[in-house]
Amino acid sequence: MNDIQEYKSVCALCPRRCGADRSDRSSGFCGVSDVLTVARAALHYWEEPCISGENGSGTVFFSGCTLRCVFCQNRAISRGKAGKHISEDRLTEIFLELQKKGAHNINLVTPDHYCRAIKRSLNKAREKGLRIPVVTNTGGYLSKEQYDILKEYTDIWLSDLKYMDKELALRYSGASDYPDVAKAALDLMVRDTGIPLYDEQGMMKRGVIVRVLLLPGQTEDAKHIVKYLWDSYGDTIVISLMNQYTPPSEGLPEYPELMRTVTDEEYDELVDYALDLGIENAYIQEGGTQEESFIPPFDLEGV
Ligand code: SF4
Repeated sequence: MNDIQEYKSVCALCPRRCGADRSDRSSGFCGVSDVLTVARAALHYWEEPCISGENGSGTVFFSGCTLRCVFCQNRAISRGKAGKHISEDRLTEIFLELQKKGAHNINLVTPDHYCRAIKRSLNKAREKGLRIPVVTNTGGYLSKEQYDILKEYTDIWLSDLKYMDKELALRYSGASDYPDVAKAALDLMVRDTGIPLYDEQGMMKRGVIVRVLLLPGQTEDAKHIVKYLWDSYGDTIVISLMNQYTPPSEGLPEYPELMRTVTDEEYDELVDYALDLGIENAYIQEGGTQEESFIPPFDLEGV
């Protein structure tokens, strides 16, 4: 009898719990192994004003994603196809380099599936003098384990709340549990973070910003999201109403309804609804944002 046992490391980190063995460089649903993979680390000026400020946000774009929405605006990296493998020590250096360049904060874009390694890199960076706030920029689809790791270093949550409707969450993100999972994570974020705090320049030091990206034809679901946020948290969070949805250039044959931008009428209806509710702590986007480039080149700058 062969008594050699074969052990596999089964990943159940995110709500997908897909069971991949990421430790042997295989990838799971998130599209990446355990090896940190980064596509860009640079100052970024297109986040909310209290995050970007004048100097820019020190943004690190991680490859892979546990949600992989069909309409993803960052699909070049979310599918795990772009990016460079780096060590945890290199990530520590990147954080310190961004601080040296004058970044207002460290902005971790889709760090969810690397949270353990990022925590170790950030701990070392703190020991070496990293002082600026850390922003966790997430789709909001977080397990309790991920949340508990991320919260240890997060000062500012910049989280999406994408859907209230489970059918929509299933159709566009393959995750009918998204509304329940994301609401539970958001509850913890608000509970643990408290009301927004700003420095004398108006830069956020601590707080929760929830992004609502309006999708074409989905004004009603977006209104449900806004109502939920207002009823649950009032003005203790900042709501960012976004009209910048851009159809993917390669097309979406199975989702023709997503092959247009949102109309001014759709966005105005959402903004008016939020204002009628009494929401004041919010960002809205000016017209024409679909033509502006919020998506930077994933050219390994700063990596
Ligand atoms: S983090 Fe990736 S490998 Fe792990 S359960 Fe989630 S999708 Fe699967």
